[in-house]
Amino acid sequence: MESTSPLCRRLMFNSWSAMVTRRPLLRLAFTLILVALAVPACSSQGEIFDGKRAYEHVVAQCAIGPRPVGSAEGRKTAEYITTTLEDLGWTVEQQEFLYRGVVGRNVIASRGSGELYLLGAHYDTRPIADRDPTDPTQPVPGANDGASGVAVLLELARALNVDKTGAEVWLAFFDAEDCGNINGWPFSVGAAYMAEHLSVEPVATVVVDMVGDTDQKFTWESGSDETLNRTLWAIAAGLGYEHEFLPRIGYAIIDDHVPFLQRGFVAVDVIDFDYPYWHTTQDTPDKVGAESLQRIGRVLEKWLEEEIPSSH
Ligand SMILES: [Zn+2]
Repeated sequence: MESTSPLCRRLMFNSWSAMVTRRPLLRLAFTLILVALAVPACSSQGEIFDGKRAYEHVVAQCAIGPRPVGSAEGRKTAEYITTTLEDLGWTVEQQEFLYRGVVGRNVIASRGSGELYLLGAHYDTRPIADRDPTDPTQPVPGANDGASGVAVLLELARALNVDKTGAEVWLAFFDAEDCGNINGWPFSVGAAYMAEHLSVEPVATVVVDMVGDTDQKFTWESGSDETLNRTLWAIAAGLGYEHEFLPRIGYAIIDDHVPFLQRGFVAVDVIDFDYPYWHTTQDTPDKVGAESLQRIGRVLEKWLEEEIPSSH
């Protein structure tokens, strides 16, 4: 069966509206229906990134338990991310890969049209807390190292007005970042898989990792794109975050931005590496602050909604 042509639909609509506009009550009902139909299209207009909502995503992920690649908890986290994004109207795909007999999956959400901008965070957690002074064989809870970056992207998925960016935005949730140097695994296995299989080059990739420390201090990751670093830190200064975003070179970090840099793409890792609970059993939600999540979230939101449209 053929579907009604757009022209036919418009004619039907016109005759119906002509009928109802002659009757006041019907006219009111008609107006209300039009208003109701218009609301979902602008649900994210005027929304602002909310650190408290982001923090709830940290708590929810940690409640699942430690989330190493290949675990039931990891799979549950991928489902949590997928469901959250689908409910917010994003198109979501799970990208499965096999590494050393272990099945991993990246979750990739997309929205909008235009040039591609990619934001990424890893959702897996380190299987062993090898820097823990007392329990080095226990898994890492991953409140900051894992959950914080995911939480920022999930809240951004709600607050971001993608239409305003004039771009296509992808949110990538990487698996298998944090098995590096355990049983011969490298870091960033999931991000490497995605970078190798990209058919379109992102204009820029921003990875967020360990962004939620209550004592938040960001410096420039030394291998990251300098121009994009400067842009993001200038936005932070404009928002009054100059005490948390220090515009100077800090550490060199092997993280999920590296596979994108290796392909010659513009990429940045936003990471606060001065975190005493890194790779310990003490990386728990009480070490993460809603205000910290809000600062990095607002910087990304402003970059996408205001800086990117003006750069075209
Ligand atoms: Zn880690």
